[in-house]
Amino acid sequence: MQILTNPADSVAAETKSWQQAMRTAIRDTKTLRKRLKLAPDPAAASAAASFGLFAPLPFVDRIAVGDESDPLLLQLLPTAAEDHSPTHFSNDPLQESAATLTTGVLKKYMGRALMIVTGACAIHCRYCFRRHFPYSDNSAGAAHLEKALVSIADDNSIEEVILSGGDPLTVVDRTIDSLFSRLGAIPHLRRIRIHTRLPIMIPSRVTDQLVQTLARCPLEKVVVIHTNHANEIDADVTGGLNRLRSAGALLLNQTVLLKGINDHAPTLIELSKRLLSAGVLPYYLHQLDQVVGAAHFEVPLETGKRLVGDMRAALPGFAVPRYVQEIPGEPNKTVLA
Ligand code: SF4
Repeated sequence: MQILTNPADSVAAETKSWQQAMRTAIRDTKTLRKRLKLAPDPAAASAAASFGLFAPLPFVDRIAVGDESDPLLLQLLPTAAEDHSPTHFSNDPLQESAATLTTGVLKKYMGRALMIVTGACAIHCRYCFRRHFPYSDNSAGAAHLEKALVSIADDNSIEEVILSGGDPLTVVDRTIDSLFSRLGAIPHLRRIRIHTRLPIMIPSRVTDQLVQTLARCPLEKVVVIHTNHANEIDADVTGGLNRLRSAGALLLNQTVLLKGINDHAPTLIELSKRLLSAGVLPYYLHQLDQVVGAAHFEVPLETGKRLVGDMRAALPGFAVPRYVQEIPGEPNKTVLA
């Protein structure tokens, strides 16, 4: 297997690069609006106070200047619409608190366990279903890691560990490497799956060390990137995805169907095409989880079904993601179309 790496960069330089991008991310709406030449929006102050803005510059550079409705901007910009949610929207729409096996480990589906590795992310998605998640009480960070690993090792029914968060790739390479070694030593595990937006937000996060950790791991590796619009995927992103693939990882994408961002058939069709060109299979198109603060992104089910029909008419079957919804307590995701 040929492993693609960055040309001559040292590990230290790579680490500095992505960590620097995390450190220099824009964290207030005033700075972001000024940089994008947008008028101030004082009405968004309460939304920004309840769930802060986080926007790394490599992603901000893909947002069109002067365009309030840019589909990348809308994913991260606090707005006054977040202050209005119907009463059936909740802080824990997937009832994850009931699925906790031990601190930082959730078991929702047969054969799989989900590790909340960290609460940190490389973007604060305004539609995030975990925007109210109690990360300080329920994550498998250093203090709870041993217990989390023991709970997985003790349960022979678990074949797959899903590293989630937050974003597990906000954790430094040496911790990821150690976690992979520990998981790789559990005999009944077959697969590690990573759910991450980092290769999209900060492509330099796909360091040589990360690629080598993946390549060395004896388990099957799946990386699920979270992309909602074709404009997110540029040459740097594609380069990072190629490197992940060269380490033997299967690459999948999941998209959330979002009003004003991707609720348009040509947009979804172009996203599938761009993903395939980058070596990523479109996997899921998610109906929005009804979390407080995100109601303005909800697309009616009938519209979603029509959009999937339009995708089927224009794309080969393997390029059409499954349109699904997570219903708490169900043994699997519910396929909607
Ligand atoms: S990256 Fe994932 S966990 Fe983090 S805010 Fe976005 S959707 Fe939520």
